[in-house]
Amino acid sequence: MLIKNVSIIESGQLQPGRDILIDGGKITNLGRDLMDESDDEPIDGRGKLAIPGLINGHTHLAMTLLRGYADDMELMPWLQEKIWPLEAKITEEDVFWGVKLGCLEQIRFGITCYSDMYYFPDTTAQATKEMGLRAFISGVVFDMKPELLAQVDPFIRRWKGDDLITPAVGPHAAYTCSEETLQKAKEIADRHDAMIHIHLSETREEVDGFLLSKGKSPVEYLDSLGLLNSRLAAVHCVWISPEDCYLLAERKANVVSCTESNLKLTSGIAPLNTMMKAGINVCLGTDGASSNNNLSIFEEMKTTAIAQKNAYHTPADFSAEQIWHMATENASRAFGLNLGLRPGAFADLALIDLKKPWFWPQSNIISHLVYSMAGGVDTTIVNGKVLMQSGVIPGEEEILEKAQERFLRLTS
Ligand SMILES: [Zn+2]
Repeated sequence: MLIKNVSIIESGQLQPGRDILIDGGKITNLGRDLMDESDDEPIDGRGKLAIPGLINGHTHLAMTLLRGYADDMELMPWLQEKIWPLEAKITEEDVFWGVKLGCLEQIRFGITCYSDMYYFPDTTAQATKEMGLRAFISGVVFDMKPELLAQVDPFIRRWKGDDLITPAVGPHAAYTCSEETLQKAKEIADRHDAMIHIHLSETREEVDGFLLSKGKSPVEYLDSLGLLNSRLAAVHCVWISPEDCYLLAERKANVVSCTESNLKLTSGIAPLNTMMKAGINVCLGTDGASSNNNLSIFEEMKTTAIAQKNAYHTPADFSAEQIWHMATENASRAFGLNLGLRPGAFADLALIDLKKPWFWPQSNIISHLVYSMAGGVDTTIVNGKVLMQSGVIPGEEEILEKAQERFLRLTS
């Protein structure tokens, strides 16, 4: 496959007239006047910008079905009064169509890989594969449903080695899993060299509870159980101390920050400044669509930048370039993915239509992508396969209809 005459970003500047050659799921060449030996129709890149596919570092994709169902609440009442009671009724078929809806949305936002934590991970993996996205899918574990723990190891065995799906272990949080459950989750992850995906230090109440009951912060508690390492994706980390930051950095753990979800649930603003000074690899996630309420990493970039600037009165920090780096390079590092517009990298990319008022005048392209982007993803490609071209995703109408049916069934 050949993308002809597309613009790319080089040293922060827009460079037009480049060709991108793709073969076998990888970018094989990038330059001018490239030739494609396959019979595929070339993709016309004129007026478009190619970017590496974005990674959504944390979501619960099937929760797209609960979008708009429970707004304007704090985390614990939101979970206890609205989300958990409804989730008790959720079936495999609900998850299947909720995941497809979430994949549609992510394709439209130029996301080519996401990290998920939810029930029915096999169904999530199957629906994601049918949609063609790459994903890290964690079998969720928590003590309210003790049967889930035994399902994680077989789930990992079924999907290990898949070209798009990487299975992982998802203990929900230190406050919903006992010490024994967390230790077992760690054993499974160690056995398979799999990632652990956990919500950590999301609210002040969570942290105060651990300090009172265990004399340790949730970060220190996880460290005492050996959970902090480079295979950990610690989500939120809103209420962490400088000591927690240095501990996470020393153990090479990754943090996934979900600013919009944290702001909407009034959980707080994570100290990303301290985290980055300590050397933690921080990337971005949207969280589920019922606490965000969309799955746009572009929106997450802007909100993160302006929230951080305000929280610490540091207008010069969290520049568009820093945030762009966080959403692209840091995310690739957290998930160990070879992503980027260069030969040898996965052919996971998006083409953005630059002929939009919010990209005009054509000046600082990274600033436009972070602060001004309001749509225009035209084409999304994952593993060398076109999932959306000129804004068209095959099968979209059926997915929208089925998702509506599943929502009505769940809330009836
Ligand atoms: Zn979450």
